[in-house]
Amino acid sequence: MYATGAVGQTHYGASVNRDMIEEGFIDDYMMPNLTAYNETCANLCNAMFSFRMLGIHGEAKYADIIELVMHNSGLSGISIEGKDYFYANPLRMLHGVRDYDAHADVTETPDREGYLACFCCPPNLVRTISNLSGWAYSLTDNGVHVNLYGSNNLATTMLDGSAIKLSQDTDYPWKGLVKLTVDECKSGAFDIALRVPGWSTGATITVNGKDAGVTATPATYAVLNREWQVGDVIVIDIPMETTFIEGHPRIEEVRNQVAVKRGPVVYCIESPDLPEGTNILDVYIDGEEPLKAQSQPEFLGGLTTIEAKLLLRENKGDAMYRNVRKPKWQELSTQLVPYYAWSNRGTAEMTVFMPVVWR
Ligand SMILES: [Zn+2]
Repeated sequence: MYATGAVGQTHYGASVNRDMIEEGFIDDYMMPNLTAYNETCANLCNAMFSFRMLGIHGEAKYADIIELVMHNSGLSGISIEGKDYFYANPLRMLHGVRDYDAHADVTETPDREGYLACFCCPPNLVRTISNLSGWAYSLTDNGVHVNLYGSNNLATTMLDGSAIKLSQDTDYPWKGLVKLTVDECKSGAFDIALRVPGWSTGATITVNGKDAGVTATPATYAVLNREWQVGDVIVIDIPMETTFIEGHPRIEEVRNQVAVKRGPVVYCIESPDLPEGTNILDVYIDGEEPLKAQSQPEFLGGLTTIEAKLLLRENKGDAMYRNVRKPKWQELSTQLVPYYAWSNRGTAEMTVFMPVVWR
């Protein structure tokens, strides 16, 4: 699985039986960025599969994957306007290196398109977004598990037939403060369990302003059991830290590279935020400079960008190999945008992982 929750590394490949296959799952840790296939449908399927695994095992790690896909490699399949679609969702885009018209059924495109010849991803994505509310909560023997965060109202019946209503208020994923209010519930104790994301550190939980007395261990559900009253307010506060992430050392394609992630959202750099004509392969990131989150409610439908310092390297031509000395860097302070939001400002090059320079 990619850092974006995407799956299915290659368009063409071979199975372990050496049969030619499409949408290949190839060798362990072989994770190309530029040529990654990552069909929107496959990424959504990763979320669907995880929801079923969550239903069997009740483990928070599966809800973490649903969240990862739906904020990144699932959502990247559709434009901000909602009219254009990606079939493939690579983690890097470089123009002029692939012949996208070589095959009549080509499904890898440099820009989102309004019509895809193989038209499975658009309806799959829109039905999954419309169905996503059905994954937000799960019912347990005597309780409700909160799987996904986002403002909503829950009105359902618990497994014993009693009515329950909750309202959830939050600016998640841009802010990690989530407020849940009990609007209707049965008498007698029952569980309200909150997912503590696996990526989080230092989350806190209060009930009616007082410490809830549970440990918010990452990648678990924090179970609150009590006799709930209408008007009770539960707050989980999950710090939204901006961090670098790196891949396992066996992923050769991201050796000495990092990606930027804030909460569940993976970021990228794309052409509109670089000097004109910059080759995306010449973009490095300064590992010593702070990453600063910036709320931008009017930009690309409302999101949070990350201010970062990048280092641009002059490219020295097309030779397969060449001598190298310590490069001179052109410094650039610019913004990173969420991966899902890329390719909404014209034809762009993009990369999630960047070589990092620790100076
Ligand atoms: Zn599809």
